[in-house]
Amino acid sequence: MNLSVAIVGAGALAVYSQLPSNPQSQHSSLQTVALVALLGVWTFCILEPIVRFSMAAGGRPLVERARLVALSLGYAGLLIVVLFAGAGGAFTPVLSLLANLLVLAIVPLLYIAFFPPTFLRRFWRQPEQEQLRLALHDLLLYSPDRATLANRALAWSQRLVGGESSFIIDRDGAILATRGIDRPQAESVSNSKELLKSVSNGQHPKRDDDYVIVPLDLQKGRGAMVIVSGRFTPLFGDEELALLRDYATSITAGLDRVTLNSRIAGLERAKTDFLNIASHELRGPMTVIKGYLTMLEAGALGDMASKARSVLPLLISKSDEVNWMIEQMIEASRLEEGRLALKKRRRDIVDLTETAVEGVKVLLMGHDLTFNKPHIPVDADVDPERFQMVIRNLLSNASKYSPTGTQIDVDIHRNTENAIVSVTDQGVGISREDQANLFTRFVRVESTEHVKGTGLGLWLSREIARMHGGNLTVDSEVGRGSTFTFSVPVDHA
Ligand code: ADP
Repeated sequence: MNLSVAIVGAGALAVYSQLPSNPQSQHSSLQTVALVALLGVWTFCILEPIVRFSMAAGGRPLVERARLVALSLGYAGLLIVVLFAGAGGAFTPVLSLLANLLVLAIVPLLYIAFFPPTFLRRFWRQPEQEQLRLALHDLLLYSPDRATLANRALAWSQRLVGGESSFIIDRDGAILATRGIDRPQAESVSNSKELLKSVSNGQHPKRDDDYVIVPLDLQKGRGAMVIVSGRFTPLFGDEELALLRDYATSITAGLDRVTLNSRIAGLERAKTDFLNIASHELRGPMTVIKGYLTMLEAGALGDMASKARSVLPLLISKSDEVNWMIEQMIEASRLEEGRLALKKRRRDIVDLTETAVEGVKVLLMGHDLTFNKPHIPVDADVDPERFQMVIRNLLSNASKYSPTGTQIDVDIHRNTENAIVSVTDQGVGISREDQANLFTRFVRVESTEHVKGTGLGLWLSREIARMHGGNLTVDSEVGRGSTFTFSVPVDHA
């Protein structure tokens, strides 16, 4: 507005003072003022865009930046040419030739600034595409949720084609993420243009006045990414549409992957919750059953027929098995929720191992147990309950996965750093491939699926060993048997 007033003012003054068109003629003082005013306004009109375009170029995507720099140079060239012309014939023929060449250069410069050809856009964009390739990797792998992924994806889409703002519409029509445009604005654009409908047929991006609409074929329906052009946006050509189409495929895969991940995490949570609830609900009734069985066996509830009495040890051993499973389930859900805290004490692990063996004696009745232990205590800082749990688990597995009558060896020794308990059986053994997954939650070897179990024991045992600063490892051969080695550090923790 102020500039318009200045132009009109300078023009009016030039008319009023009857400024001569011939620069050689004499000027009155009013005419000189008019001439200076005219030159001042004109210089400002040329300098302003030079400065404005070169400043606007900073920090923009490469294609936009190159266009703005070209525009700025075009204007600068104009300024130089006019200055040459203003100086009249005062230059040598060489300088005049240079001025003419400059005029010739300005035309293509301004042309590519307004309509940059495809090959130039591609050339300008190249360094950015390298960065995109690297960023895409991070974008797809490390985005924690869909909204974050969508947001990061928009930043790159905009850079890629030089859009001013952008947003992503989810499969249900809701706006998933916006960039450079606020949510209500994006919603109104999305509703008024019925964008999702406009890309409902076909896989290709669509140009629509000031927008490019890129379909996103998500697993559960079609969404869209919309790039809005701005004042400095270059044309959305076929090249840009093809780029966006490729990019959209990656974004779609990324969004679906995040959806899938959160569904898996949900299922995992449900599984842990179920484990937690089921184990706690089962514990009460099992305590009552085990209590009455023990009282019956002790004769505290009166005499029983000898036939009925003869099945009591079996019933007690079975209820011990169930209790053992419940105990594992409770510990597993504690571990999952990060609530499993060790209560360490200095204890003799020979003593603890003997107690653990005693606890599963009924299970080992069909096997020939050998016990190789040092004659002096081996002290270590351990959680006595959890330590025994690991030993019981290894012994119970050794008996479950080896034929009745075979030998099970328990060996305790120590080296400079660790107390080591190993349990060796002569059972079915475990193949190399199965050994790789053995310590994973709920993993059971297919060939032993007919044997009762939860697939929690070894996972839990290794976690407990590692929480102690120790480890649990396996050495096994199919058909020959297995050795599980449990170690805990002997120094003070
Ligand atoms: P569970 O015994 O309750 O299934 P574990 O986590 O203790 O769960 O064991 C996981 C799997 O490892 C078992 O299902 C079994 O296939 C295999 N396994 C464990 N111990 C032995 C062993 N001593 N010999 C052979 N296979 C074993």
